[in-house]
Amino acid sequence: MLPLVALLLCLLSSAGFAARNPVHKLNYFQTNMVKQDGRDVLRIEIGMDRDNLDYQASVKPYIPQRLLIDLWNTEPGKLNESISLKSGLAKSLKIRELEPRHTQVAIDFSMKVSEDLYKVYTVPAEKKTKKPYRLVIEIAQPDKKSSRIDGLQGHAVVLDAGHGGSDSGAVGPHGVTEKAVTLAVTKKVQSLLQNSGARVIMTRDTDRDVYGINATDRQELQARVNVGLYAPEAEIFLSIHCNAFSNPAANGMETYHYDGSYRGERLATLLNEELEKAGGLTNRGVKTANFYVIRHSKVPASLIELGFITNYREEALLNDDAYQNKLAAAITKAIGRYFKE
Ligand SMILES: [Zn+2]
Repeated sequence: MLPLVALLLCLLSSAGFAARNPVHKLNYFQTNMVKQDGRDVLRIEIGMDRDNLDYQASVKPYIPQRLLIDLWNTEPGKLNESISLKSGLAKSLKIRELEPRHTQVAIDFSMKVSEDLYKVYTVPAEKKTKKPYRLVIEIAQPDKKSSRIDGLQGHAVVLDAGHGGSDSGAVGPHGVTEKAVTLAVTKKVQSLLQNSGARVIMTRDTDRDVYGINATDRQELQARVNVGLYAPEAEIFLSIHCNAFSNPAANGMETYHYDGSYRGERLATLLNEELEKAGGLTNRGVKTANFYVIRHSKVPASLIELGFITNYREEALLNDDAYQNKLAAAITKAIGRYFKE
């Protein structure tokens, strides 16, 4: 009796699921090389018989040169295969059915995958060329000009993206949160540092609390300091924040160090110089403060206030991808100078 009921329920529920979410059948594959802003780009297109694909791209820390794209509610059909990509940018691509209705595309890059090297998006079907709805993966040649920064090879840096999880930090007039800006900029700095041969230890690399939700400020901040303490190779600690004030006219960038830390002051000064050049905001200077994370760090530390999220203009800048790239490049350059000069 029981197995029959179970079978019936199973049939009913899978039929119901299928009716709501018809499966996407993969039926098209093409690759070609294109030029974008003077860079070689490998463009991979995977087509399917219906639109509104639900997908997710990720990179696992233990296979840093492999980009994984999970395609939900799909069947690979004839595309269940391994394809060699002779491009210099990526070596191979595998399309596999991991489980029913779950296909995974795994692309082995010729280098470590970083966010600035690839894009994943979908494009609608084209009647004229008879191309179906497609998932497009673009893999770009690294930008040689900015990819390697001097002075970083072999060094180890702790990066602390301020706030996160249950703590949004300050919130701008249009709803931009400090925790999102600090995470975006910190991840860009991480990728630039790694591309230049530095080791990076992140206090967080997702939208989360480091200690846990409902922690006291002290517990949360100590948890961030601990990430540095538990990494004996760490040489500097850098905490990234945005400023906030009740008056929306308040604006500008500033960097902090703990009073009496000569190396901390040096780091804060270099960060201040590079951020002024790249970001163009009012320079509020290099300051000392008792902030928990820089006071308790065992290595030279600095805390950066990138700009005022409560200021309309600066909120928009801080939320802008291109502006974040500039800030991240400036921070990375300053860290390189710290180790080199
Ligand atoms: Zn903050």
